[in-house]
Amino acid sequence: MKIARPALIAGNWKMHKTPGEAEGFARRLVAELSTPVDREVVIAPAFPALPAVAQVIRETGIALAAQNVHEQAQGAFTGEVSAGMLRDAGCSYVIVGHSERRTHFHETDELIGCKLVAALAGGLKPILCIGETLAEREADYTLAVITRQLKEGLKNVGPDDIGGVVIAYEPVWAIGTGKTAAPAQAQEAHAFIRGEIAKRYGEETARRIRIIYGGSVNPGNMGRLMAEEDIDGALVGGGSLEVESFLQIVNYQEV
Ligand code: PEP
Repeated sequence: MKIARPALIAGNWKMHKTPGEAEGFARRLVAELSTPVDREVVIAPAFPALPAVAQVIRETGIALAAQNVHEQAQGAFTGEVSAGMLRDAGCSYVIVGHSERRTHFHETDELIGCKLVAALAGGLKPILCIGETLAEREADYTLAVITRQLKEGLKNVGPDDIGGVVIAYEPVWAIGTGKTAAPAQAQEAHAFIRGEIAKRYGEETARRIRIIYGGSVNPGNMGRLMAEEDIDGALVGGGSLEVESFLQIVNYQEV
């Protein structure tokens, strides 16, 4: 029953948009968005743009996310940013374990699990990204990969904290490629993930946790994806970079 799960649509801007460009986008979004009550909108600019965007979206209902966080609260970690700093900069969410971080920055399941704990301890709601590569799917390892990433990512998240976590199922072969998982294919993975959450945290938690889909979401496929029972929103990269496209995605209608 989706009634227990307001949709979450998050735009991941990756390493795009200067602070000035991000602020301009946020101003237009605020002016043109009238968010339907059944959904929550989140934007994830690059670190330097967070304060300017936070200022613009304050008290609008749009939430701010960071794209990464360090696993320690503070210390001699040149170039890194802690959960407390992000919270202070206006973030309420943080993306953890994005496949680009796993691939290009060699983040392991173990590290991602530590980042998740640090995010929660710092007052942020983590969006934990999991998903298989094309080779893993073709070798029929999809469910095994998802199970491992979930188990390790949530290793130190207890029943009191799981409510703050969002899961993003992002098949790696669909990210930035224009290849979206078919709605039924995505649904199968989402239902499986919800089942795994139920095994670990119980049915009620599984019914409430939001599992969003990511991978070449666009205005043309969002409504079909959202019609699936276990798809509770989207993590959107390329489709979130233009205001018009992002607005159309946010204003989807299930078809
Ligand atoms: C992402 O960055 O998480 C993503 C899903 O990107 P895209 O929408 O461009 O595939």
